[in-house]
Amino acid sequence: MSRRFLSIGECMVELSQAGDGLLRKGFAGDTFNTAWYARACLAADWSVDYFTALGDDAMSDEMLAFIDKAGIGTSLIRRIRGRTPGLYMINLKNGERSFSYWRDNSAARSLAADPDRLREAVESAEVVYFSGITLAILPHEDAETLLAEVRRAKAAGKLVVFDPNIRPRLWSSYDVMHTTISEGARSSVLVMPSFDDEAAHFGDDSIEATIHRYRALGAIHIVVKNGADGVTLNFAGEQTFVPAEKVEKVVDTTSAGDSFNGAFLARYLEAGDAPGAARFAAKVAARVVSEHGALVPREKLGLDGG
Ligand code: ADP
Repeated sequence: MSRRFLSIGECMVELSQAGDGLLRKGFAGDTFNTAWYARACLAADWSVDYFTALGDDAMSDEMLAFIDKAGIGTSLIRRIRGRTPGLYMINLKNGERSFSYWRDNSAARSLAADPDRLREAVESAEVVYFSGITLAILPHEDAETLLAEVRRAKAAGKLVVFDPNIRPRLWSSYDVMHTTISEGARSSVLVMPSFDDEAAHFGDDSIEATIHRYRALGAIHIVVKNGADGVTLNFAGEQTFVPAEKVEKVVDTTSAGDSFNGAFLARYLEAGDAPGAARFAAKVAARVVSEHGALVPREKLGLDGG
């Protein structure tokens, strides 16, 4: 029996500019991106599954086929009649990117509305990954359902991993955001925040402060990402700094953090050495920021010594 890495969240249709007013269609979303990189880096004795909800339209079918083609399991994905996937568009103006979202009524918002199915999925996995975005898109009651489920998984000894991925726009208020993200961290074993976000939205004045806050909540291991300034790991109290790789030309930082998380977890699950996993993940993330798009194909990640 293979071991299962389960990622829970929302994958969206992505529209980006392809010149001449044409739009290119893709698929992406933080927890899906992490599943993509975990799949690229894990050996075949691990299965990587995505847990979300999709509709029954052609676009949902296409997304499902795309996920499947990436080698990511789709058997747990809920289909909901009459619903559609969320959509976002990347706008480019004078080299600056901005995003427009149409996701308020996406099928993924109902991903935790069937608690039995969610429980079955979580119980089938050794590793459970979710994010602050996963929590933000859920109705309050469903976020509570998901949190209860991951708490149960943590109590059962599973590796529950949480990236706070703080997006104030998705939350009804700062209060709800702070409380729910803190609850997400409390329910997890490993928390993987980005320092920029934590400083901006929790007021942390140092990486130490971020680590302290999440440990005080009950997270056991913390990996704080800090862009080109590397990562600080605190594993059961033991602290290590791992620098980022030098990148000659940063092309697109989309999914830098997601790819770091996926690569880190893959290596950590296989070798158990957190600093070694962070060095590996820094190499993968450096390749990802050197290419366009959220999902860089496996061949371009330099995994086979290339
Ligand atoms: P997020 O995308 O969540 O904000 P970060 O910006 O901290 O995450 O980036 C995640 C990881 O990607 C970093 O830990 C680092 O390994 C890599 N990375 C990001 N930006 C750069 C950069 N300019 N140069 C080299 N590595 C980078």
